[in-house]
Amino acid sequence: MIIGSHVSYNAKEGLLGSVKEALSYGANTFMFYTGAPQNTRRNPIDLETTKQAFLEMNKNGIDKNNVIVHAPYIINLANKEKEEFSVDFLKQEIKRVEELGFDKLVLHPGSHVNQGTDVGIKQIIKALNQVITKDQKVVILLETMAGKGSECGKTLEEIKQIIDGIKYQDKIGVCLDTCHLHDAGYDMSNFDTVLTKFDKIIGLDKLQCIHINDSKNDINTHKDRHENIGFGKIGFDNLLKIIYHDKLKNVPKILETPYIGLDDNSKERLFPPYKFEIEMIKNKKWDDSLYQKIRNYYK
Ligand code: FE
Ligand code: FE
Ligand code: ZN
Repeated sequence: MIIGSHVSYNAKEGLLGSVKEALSYGANTFMFYTGAPQNTRRNPIDLETTKQAFLEMNKNGIDKNNVIVHAPYIINLANKEKEEFSVDFLKQEIKRVEELGFDKLVLHPGSHVNQGTDVGIKQIIKALNQVITKDQKVVILLETMAGKGSECGKTLEEIKQIIDGIKYQDKIGVCLDTCHLHDAGYDMSNFDTVLTKFDKIIGLDKLQCIHINDSKNDINTHKDRHENIGFGKIGFDNLLKIIYHDKLKNVPKILETPYIGLDDNSKERLFPPYKFEIEMIKNKKWDDSLYQKIRNYYK
């Protein structure tokens, strides 16, 4: 099983900090943003800490092919007015991912604002074909979205529509997000049906990453609010079946579940749940005292 979580990437330690954080969770992979997802400030990549990070990864059995980078969400390829900015910034981001030594970049397809899904998708295709070059090593993984607001890519058909428009087919793949699928109306208690659909519409070979999140809301509510594993409307057993699915053995699974406050309302100090969620996943057993365990450990 290839399992990890979202981790931070900061100016001080760069990638080395991310690797250390992942290892502290008992993970064998991880996902990170190369800078704050909501702005364009990026630090130059530090060669020394990056080298150390790779040594640390090798020593601990983290395969670089399983590491995921998430593109910043200020990029909106569906918005025509921001086309130049988004194309340019995504190109830079691909370069950064290559410089770091990775090859998987997860991207939210984009929000059409009020132009309608078809116009949005056409714009996304147009922009992506300006971004993607024949020689790049990075594969862009389109993430399936919850359908919040005007998000494109809320159905497998929409994702397929985008893929079909891409010139260099080997540079495009898919990242499933369990919370988003559920919120978009897919029944995660019947995941084999979803996977069969995926194979029929898109093809399983395109599936290269899965975000494992429970959902705070009911199916088909298009809210996109992640919940800790087993505390939401998808449930632990359904998520476990996905995580241990035979056909998904080689697909990296990434947790993006919420941090935990000191009490249920506290927003001041928040602690990462990942060490304990990964433990539950490895034990294949849900622990309803998860929050207490996290608080005890970090405080
Ligand atoms: Fe995402
Ligand atoms: Fe996600
Ligand atoms: Zn989400």
